[in-house]
Amino acid sequence: AHLDRIGEVDGAVHAFLHVDTEGALAAAKKVDDAVAAGEAVGPLAGVPLALKDVFTTEGVPTTVGSRMLEGWLPPYDATVTRRLKEAGVVILGKTNMDEFAMGSSTENSAYGPTRNPWDLDRIPGGSGGGSAAALAAFEAPLSIGTDTGGSIRQPGAVTGTVGVKPTYGGVSRYGLVAFSSSLDQAGPCARTVLDAALLHEVIAGHDPLDSTSIDAPVPPVVAAAREGANGDLSGVRVGVVTQFAGEGYQPGVLRSFEAAVARLKQLGAEVVEVSCPSFDYALPAYYLIAPSEASSNLARFDAMRYGIRVGDDGTRSAEEVMSLTREAGFGPEVKRRIMIGTYALSSGYYDAYYGSAQKVRTLISRDFEAAFATVDVLVSPTTPTTAFRIGERTGDPMAMYRADLCTIPANLAGNAAMSVPSGLSDEDGLPVGLQIMAPALQDHRMYRVAAAYE
Ligand code: GLN
Repeated sequence: AHLDRIGEVDGAVHAFLHVDTEGALAAAKKVDDAVAAGEAVGPLAGVPLALKDVFTTEGVPTTVGSRMLEGWLPPYDATVTRRLKEAGVVILGKTNMDEFAMGSSTENSAYGPTRNPWDLDRIPGGSGGGSAAALAAFEAPLSIGTDTGGSIRQPGAVTGTVGVKPTYGGVSRYGLVAFSSSLDQAGPCARTVLDAALLHEVIAGHDPLDSTSIDAPVPPVVAAAREGANGDLSGVRVGVVTQFAGEGYQPGVLRSFEAAVARLKQLGAEVVEVSCPSFDYALPAYYLIAPSEASSNLARFDAMRYGIRVGDDGTRSAEEVMSLTREAGFGPEVKRRIMIGTYALSSGYYDAYYGSAQKVRTLISRDFEAAFATVDVLVSPTTPTTAFRIGERTGDPMAMYRADLCTIPANLAGNAAMSVPSGLSDEDGLPVGLQIMAPALQDHRMYRVAAAYE
């Protein structure tokens, strides 16, 4: 049924870069056969899922939204891919994304943008717009995204779906094509909080193949989602971050947020205002740290090891081939990030840019620590605006970057954060998201609040 649905709507939505019809049907049959034979099956046996094209899938195309990896068939599965398969999940295909996960609209995909199912002239968010749009268009009940600066939560907010960035290190990065390794975090996307929790527990947990994977028990998110469903938040202290308001925020989004806070109070939560002064510097710090790490990570695309190779006709040096390949293989936003990153890391500028950004990162972690000493979770709008029009911000990178104003602090500090649908804006009738943030390894706290709020 989901493959049929994809056939009907994906021509217009373009959530998928690759639909793996054969693989999906084979995986579904395997589950059917196991059930028929009375064998045990995994916890999500037979449930279809859409996988962001940033995860390696053995023998199935993995492009990361880039021409650079066109035609590449990975020889191995990412840990996330492997855990999904072990749980009996049916992977329908790979979803569209901004190239190398750099963007907030999927317009940076080398294969054309994804459209928001709520309004096909608008963006579905990014970088994981395909994973969010697939849920909103009922092409899949579950999907996976990655969140380096908001790429799970912002698409979730603008498509009216649930998007979770687990604690950094909670889900393995092995086989996840790296953008900014100290920030990249995979997580679940779904249409309900409980669905997200069920998927979360399947993909999370220690992985010796990822040196930054946390060796600790997975937070009990399913139990928390079930507990929250009773709608009682008495005893829960919620902090409203005062920095996330003012210029650049749509009045409709702010009114929706006020209504969300009132509802949390109604559910029994105690709400207080919390100031996190360093959050004002999160965006500039992120746009130094993420490009710096990207410039280093993307050095591996050297025309020798992966993907396309341009100009290798026997007359050119390896360096010339590398240069021609990178010129043809990377899109403009990726080139911009590599240039910013190499500049920020170069001697003479390192302390002023990268070094300062790292100090800001520490201050942001301290703001979170101080806040979580008095509250259980923090809340804010997920994004300053609802889905903008396709093409509206492509000429203005700074405007594009501002889509992640509220989401970036949680990435810099490494704690858990999620977006839960919060109704429609009274300004334009488009979905708005409520962001809930929790301390590292306390992911279950935000699931409880989200399930009560939902
Ligand atoms: N929009 C942000 C960026 O372009 C975040 C991307 C992400 O989370 N992958 O860097």
